Amino acid sequence: MPPLIDEVLHTSPTQRPLNYDSPLALKAFLDAQGLGMRKKFGQNFLINPEARKILLDALEIGPGDGVWEIGPGLGAMTWGLLERGVQVKAFEIDPGFIRVLTDFFGAHPRFCLVPGDVLKTWPHAGEEGYMLGNLPYTIGSRLLGAFIEGNRFFKRMVVMLQRELVQRIGARPGSKDYSSFSVLCTSAYTIKPLKIVKGSSFYPVPHVDSQGLRLDLRTDVDPRSYPLGFRPLVRQLFASRRKTIKHNLYNFVVSYILQGVGTGAEAGYITEEALERCGIPGNNRAETLGLEAFVALATVLEDIGLVR
Ligand code: SAM
Repeated sequence: MPPLIDEVLHTSPTQRPLNYDSPLALKAFLDAQGLGMRKKFGQNFLINPEARKILLDALEIGPGDGVWEIGPGLGAMTWGLLERGVQVKAFEIDPGFIRVLTDFFGAHPRFCLVPGDVLKTWPHAGEEGYMLGNLPYTIGSRLLGAFIEGNRFFKRMVVMLQRELVQRIGARPGSKDYSSFSVLCTSAYTIKPLKIVKGSSFYPVPHVDSQGLRLDLRTDVDPRSYPLGFRPLVRQLFASRRKTIKHNLYNFVVSYILQGVGTGAEAGYITEEALERCGIPGNNRAETLGLEAFVALATVLEDIGLVR
């Protein structure tokens, strides 16, 4: 039976709606549409086809897979996703881009658009397994943090971020870039930094370099199974980087566990007890602790019935 015309058009598209590699073509298109680029939405189109291919390849997706695309812009990577036969759910905030995306892909059976601020829309958007985004620098870390803290886990995420943020996420214990965000991300994902991309690969050219990042959901742990106080504990232990673990843990015990109603002596006792049970030297700083140490501390606090 011959394929339906719709199938030919939409499952094997042969023509891109725009020349996504040319700043001149993009500018001319935006002008013709009466649109401009908005700094407040972190709008920098990825005009380097090789970099786009690296991100798309890293996602390792194929027909039948469902992908969330965050910030599709005019659809440069949306196009690549549809070419690969996947189901695309695209989250875009800019009303002008939403209009263009609807014109380009609205009739496509594997395309669905979620208009608005992804930080607000994602909790109601379903459960597809993959995520791709040349993320606006304005929301990159907030969005990844919100997904992890909101227990919204993807089998794999591939994102483009500011280079400094990628370094921070992939940092190892003991290094200056190691932070609560590194611990949060590695508690759920294995981290693979991808290619560093210069500003000239974007239109308009941003002031900073960017870098791709692949995050694969860990299979050796269930990220939903960490002790209840684990994430607040990690944040608190890094809250004052120059202070010792003991100092920051004491503050955590006072504020999170005793909620300000216990005595200082009680908090001191709990702090000492927890550190001793985990074999953690209280005079070190949090940046020396690996993920396992944070988990051990949170587990002890839960075991002694203090975090429920
Ligand atoms: N994907 C396109 C590309 O690679 O060329 C555009 C990437 S551009 C860095 C970021 C995109 O995210 C823009 O389209 C911007 O309008 C959109 N965006 C910014 N903040 C957003 C938010 N809070 N929710 C949804 N989309 C957002």
